[in-house]
Amino acid sequence: MGTIAAMATERAIIHVDMDAFYASVEELDDPTLAGRPVIVGGLGGRGVVSTCNYEARKYGVRSAMPTSRAQRLCPQAVFIFPRHDRYAEISAQVFAVFGEFTDDIEGLSLDEAFLDVTGSLRLFASIEAIGRQIKLRIRERTGLNASVGMATNKLVAKLASELSKPDGFLRVRPEEVRATLDPLPVGRLWTVGKVAEENLHRIGILTIGELVRCDPARLQRALGRQVAGLQALARGEDERPVHREVAEQSISAENTFEVDIADLAMAEAWLLRMSEKVARRARDRQMKGRTVTVKLREPPFTTYTRQAQLPVAGYATQDIHQLARRLLHAWWTQQPRPRLRLLGVGLSGFGERAQNDLFQPAASAPQADGIQDRINEKFGAGSLVRAGVLKTRE
Ligand SMILES: [Mg+2]
Repeated sequence: MGTIAAMATERAIIHVDMDAFYASVEELDDPTLAGRPVIVGGLGGRGVVSTCNYEARKYGVRSAMPTSRAQRLCPQAVFIFPRHDRYAEISAQVFAVFGEFTDDIEGLSLDEAFLDVTGSLRLFASIEAIGRQIKLRIRERTGLNASVGMATNKLVAKLASELSKPDGFLRVRPEEVRATLDPLPVGRLWTVGKVAEENLHRIGILTIGELVRCDPARLQRALGRQVAGLQALARGEDERPVHREVAEQSISAENTFEVDIADLAMAEAWLLRMSEKVARRARDRQMKGRTVTVKLREPPFTTYTRQAQLPVAGYATQDIHQLARRLLHAWWTQQPRPRLRLLGVGLSGFGERAQNDLFQPAASAPQADGIQDRINEKFGAGSLVRAGVLKTRE
C-alpha cells in the first residue's frame, strides 16, 4: 500500500541548464572562436566575468570573478562584452522547447529552468525520454548544448544537471539519492551559503552525508538556527513546487562603476537611468511586473538585494523608479559608509499579469513614457532621457 501511495504522488522534475550560455552563443555566432578561451563580461577596470567557456575555465577563470583577474589568469582569452538581446533571443527558442512538454515551467534565468513533467509521463515512455527529447530539440534548433537533470524534486534535479555538466544528462532515482548526495561537499547543498559552510566545517562536517548524520542539537548550536529543514534537504527531500511563470522571470539593468559612487545624488541619477531602461523594455514586451528589485554591491564584492511590490503590476518608469528609490534610500541610510561599485534595477513578478487585467484597473504607462519611447525608437535609445539622468553622463 505504502509503495502505491508513494508512486501516486511521485513527481517528475527536470532541471535544464545551458552550458556556459553567453560564451556558447558567442562561439555559435563567431566560428573563429572555436577552441579558444572565451570570456563574456564587463570590460572596464571594475568589470566582472558573466560567463566563460570551458577552455577558459582550465585557467581558473570563473563567473563573478573581476575581469582584471581573469585577464591575468588567461591573457590570451577573447574578451567579449555581453549582448543581452541576442541571448534573450536564443533563450526564447529554448523556452519554446520546454513549452512543448509542459506548461509548468519555472525560469530561473535566461538559460536555466525547472520543468514539472509529471503530467506528460502518460505521453512518453519515461522521464528520460522527455529529457532526451528536450536536449535534442534544443541542440537542433539553437546548435547549443544543455545539461539535463532528472529526479522527483527540484533539489535533486538541479544537482543532477550540475553533476553531469557539460553536455550532461543524469537521472537520479529516489533509491539513488542518498548515495549521490552523501559524498558531495556540504557547500553544494541548496541554502548552505558561505557562512553556514564555514560553521559546518568548524564542527567537522564536510559532506552532505555528515550533515545528515549529525546530531540535530549539536548542529543547531553550530548554526544558531532551526536545522530540521536543512537536514531534510541534505537527505534529498524537497517538496517545493515548480512555480509556473512567464518564461522571462526578470527584466533588469545594472551597471558596474569605474569609480565607486559615494554620493547619493549620483546613485539616484543612475537609478533613474536604469529604471527608464527596465521600464522601456517591459513596455516593449507588454510585460507588467509587480516586484521591483534593487541590487547594490559594496566594494569589493558584498552584494545586497532589496525588493518591494508595486500595488498593481505595472511598467511605468515613474512607478518603478519611485519604489527603487525608496529601497536605495533605506539601504543607504543603514550603511555606516555607503559606497557602490554596482547598482542594478529589476522588474519581475510577471505571472500575475492576467489576474491583474481581470480584477484590477490596468496600470497604464503615463503619456510621457509613450512619447519618450517613440522618440527613442526614432532617434536611438537614450536620445530622450529624464533630466535627472544627465548627471550620469558627467
Ligand atoms: Mg547555465
